[in-house]
Amino acid sequence: MGGSGSGIWRSMDARMTVEDCLILDSGKLQKDKLIREGVHFSGSITWTRCSTGEVTASISFTVNTLDPDVAWFELSYTITWKDDARYGEQEQIKERIGLTSTILPWGKRRWWFRCPLVVDGRLCNRRVGKLYHPPSGKYYGCRNCYDLTYESSQEAHRYDGVIASMALDMGITPKEVKRLSRKGLL
Ligand SMILES: [Zn+2]
Repeated sequence: MGGSGSGIWRSMDARMTVEDCLILDSGKLQKDKLIREGVHFSGSITWTRCSTGEVTASISFTVNTLDPDVAWFELSYTITWKDDARYGEQEQIKERIGLTSTILPWGKRRWWFRCPLVVDGRLCNRRVGKLYHPPSGKYYGCRNCYDLTYESSQEAHRYDGVIASMALDMGITPKEVKRLSRKGLL
C-alpha cells in the first residue's frame, strides 16, 4: 500500500471505537465522591486505556460545585502528538467542562457533563454522562461530536469503505452519499 490516498482509505474503513478512548464517566466520578454537591477541591485520577487495561496517565482536576447553577469540572493533562508534523511533541491542555445536575425522584442530585466541544463554530453543550478522549484528539467531547461507534456495531459499517470511495469519486462527503442513496438517487 502507499500513495497519498491510502491514508484516507484507512481512516474511513476503521472507525474509531469507544474502547480506544479514555472515558470520563460522570456517574463513576460521582460514585467515587469526586463530583459531589457543595465542594471546591483539586485531585487526580489515574487513567487506564480501556482496550488494554494499561495505566497510561494520571490527570489532575479541579471541581467546583459550590453553586450548582455554574458548577464545573476542569481537567489538566498533557498530550503527546502522534501526527507526522508534531510527532512526539507534548502539549499541556486545560479543559473546563460545565456540570449540570438533575434531581432524582428520591431527592438525590445526579451530575452530568455539558459537552465542551465546538463543532462547526457551535458549542455542542449536550448533557451527557460520558465524555471521550480519542487517541488522536486534543479535548474530551461527547460521543456525538466524535461520531464514535461501539466495537459490536462495526458490522453496520462494513460498507463505509465503499461509501468513502464513492464520496471521493464524486467529490462529496460520505454523509452526502448516504443521504442520496437513501433517497434512491444513486
Ligand atoms: Zn458534543
